[in-house]
Amino acid sequence: MPVTLPQLSRREFLKRAVLAGAGMVTASSHANLFGKARDQHTFAFFSDCHVAADAALKNSGVNMADNLAASVNELAAWPVKPAAVFVNGDLAFKSGLPADYATFSKLIELVRALAPIHLNLGNHDQRENFWSAFPLDAVKQKCVPQKQCAVLETDLANWFLLDSLAVTNASSGELGAVQVAWLDSELATRKEKPAVIVGHHNLQSPGANSALNDSAALVEIFSKHPQVKAFVFGHTHNWHVETHATGVHLVNLPPTGYVFKAGRPSGWVRCTLARDGVEFELRSLDANHPEHAQVKKLSWRVG
Ligand SMILES: [Zn+2]
Repeated sequence: MPVTLPQLSRREFLKRAVLAGAGMVTASSHANLFGKARDQHTFAFFSDCHVAADAALKNSGVNMADNLAASVNELAAWPVKPAAVFVNGDLAFKSGLPADYATFSKLIELVRALAPIHLNLGNHDQRENFWSAFPLDAVKQKCVPQKQCAVLETDLANWFLLDSLAVTNASSGELGAVQVAWLDSELATRKEKPAVIVGHHNLQSPGANSALNDSAALVEIFSKHPQVKAFVFGHTHNWHVETHATGVHLVNLPPTGYVFKAGRPSGWVRCTLARDGVEFELRSLDANHPEHAQVKKLSWRVG
């Protein structure tokens, strides 16, 4: 059951803002949100927001709510509207409490005026709480029982959104054989267009056990379906881009929340598709970070 928050009309957006008592949101202050042109090939990625029920809570010296709000404001001020926004898991602080999602929902509200939002699950989310957190909007369609996965078809690529949550608040993740079989069959019916896979957990390194337990099954998918061009994930809280031995690009998103290693950037990522590849740009919350505005221009593997 994917959770997609559709873009809101100006009227609905303002109505909800008034009901929520968001005094700062007025018709005039956000008039430009609705007038902007949309870039059909540009997408925005947020990951590892780790928003707690208490918006004042800090972890590792970082106020996660403030960071998400800053990322949202920057996206809202972007000259064009993206085609869609992805939040790639760990929306909640630690254990996916209903109140965490309530705070997250308020912070992300401004994005509702811009584009549809596709929400993925991470290991700090809780599936049932998550599914009941957006009662007005959740688009529910059952792809795989008890997993939240979906296909989003766009002009230049198909996006395959996966659910790698295994046990809430345990580090490692798992797709499961049923979801892998679903991915395999969905890819088999969409061979013509480049495919980008989006999931929370990174591929497992040899000897480690905090990433995707069934990484080998996903790598097999990379090998079997040449239209798979990139895998976008979070979890490690470490902005990094490299290319797998299969030629699939591995894009590790930064957290909007806290980093694990001092000096690494936090923020969001702008992604723009082309016919033969893609660009990912780091939007660091610290504009003085040496990697801020770094653009990774990736060409699709041949096949
Ligand atoms: Zn995380």
